[in-house]
Amino acid sequence: MKALSKRILAIAPSMTVAIDTKAKEMQAAGRDVVALGAGEPDFDTPEHVKDAAIASIREGKTKYTAPTGIPELKRAVCNKLKRENGLDYHPAQVVITSGAKHAIFNILSAVINPGDEVIIPAPYWVTYPELVKLAGGVPVFLPTSVETNYKITAAQLERAITDKTKLFLLCNPSNPTGMVYGRTELEAFAKILVKNDVFVLSDEIYEHIQYGTKAISIASLGHEIKELTLIVNGVSKAYAMTGWRVGYTITPKPIADAIAALQSQATHHPANASQYASVAALEAGLDFVNTMVVEFTKRRDYIVGALKAIPGVICPLPEGAFYALPNVSSFYGKKAPDGTVIKGSLELCRWLLETHLLAIVPGIAFGDDTCVRLSYATSMGELERAIERLSKGLAELS
Ligand code: PMP
Ligand code: GLU
Repeated sequence: MKALSKRILAIAPSMTVAIDTKAKEMQAAGRDVVALGAGEPDFDTPEHVKDAAIASIREGKTKYTAPTGIPELKRAVCNKLKRENGLDYHPAQVVITSGAKHAIFNILSAVINPGDEVIIPAPYWVTYPELVKLAGGVPVFLPTSVETNYKITAAQLERAITDKTKLFLLCNPSNPTGMVYGRTELEAFAKILVKNDVFVLSDEIYEHIQYGTKAISIASLGHEIKELTLIVNGVSKAYAMTGWRVGYTITPKPIADAIAALQSQATHHPANASQYASVAALEAGLDFVNTMVVEFTKRRDYIVGALKAIPGVICPLPEGAFYALPNVSSFYGKKAPDGTVIKGSLELCRWLLETHLLAIVPGIAFGDDTCVRLSYATSMGELERAIERLSKGLAELS
């Protein structure tokens, strides 16, 4: 067989997805795995959303749509941006994509040339560097740690900018750190980005899953930064619609047109029924996500408290999203009763899954080997079982 594409060979498969798949396979095989791997709300999609999809199918709305999505959904996205973010956009600036992951792929494909640098704060969501590489770009990481509350400074951002910098990747609130940049921090970033004419991909998928001061969109900080902001969002997290595969991009019109051309040749559009379901989700406002956030708050408080109570574990309090990212590096170099040496986050997570049936994600997948990620978008009962297994496992290491 001839060699595969170099672009494909350069990218790694998603470890969050791999762990979720493995945990689900083990559960299907009858093993009692506690799965805190993938970040996916355990709530069911709201009934009115399902009803809208079913009604659209019954009405025969089952043919191709425009590659950028149905007009009703693009209007609903613009209305949402006006209502929730105070931002004015035209539907021609919106492209409906097959999930937010695909939205990121589309934006990077539209703006990155080979050799362009993309600045990514670490720990980062697994997918970012791989999609940057796929587009021919060069990821440039800005390290953070528990000491800096997993946040970068404006000075760090400024120092990383070179004449090759094309884009800054901002995930706010952040997966996996749970940290949230407030207005003052975003203003400082915006000033630097405008001065250097650097795009910002603003991943706002967790915008409504926040526990303190609400983050704002960096696009709302003035005309100049709005012109450089490429917004990614979707319905997966806020409306418990991960499997429906609907996301969207909001960008200046020339970029939306480029994405539309790409999409017309590649995926055409997400499923018709999923788009009608998303109109219903967006038009119903924020009651559903606010109810989830009440639950997530209780779960966050429980899991962070329980993690901090384990000797040797350091865990900052997440301000948004639904992940805890404790530093567990004090256990590295220790030995398990079966002889396994825990060299880093990968061995720790593998050993916990195999021996204690607990699925969590190694920090190395997010570019930081000192930590592990636990998703608390699952029931309190499962979280209690997870903590029991984790504490027992860590206590066995010596
Ligand atoms: N961005 C971030 C930060 C995420 O955590 C996720 C997780 N799914 C996505 C984008 C992709 O969302 P979707 O399921 O809509 O593709
Ligand atoms: N975004 C979620 C996560 O980080 C879902 C899995 C994925 O797409 O990475 O776990």
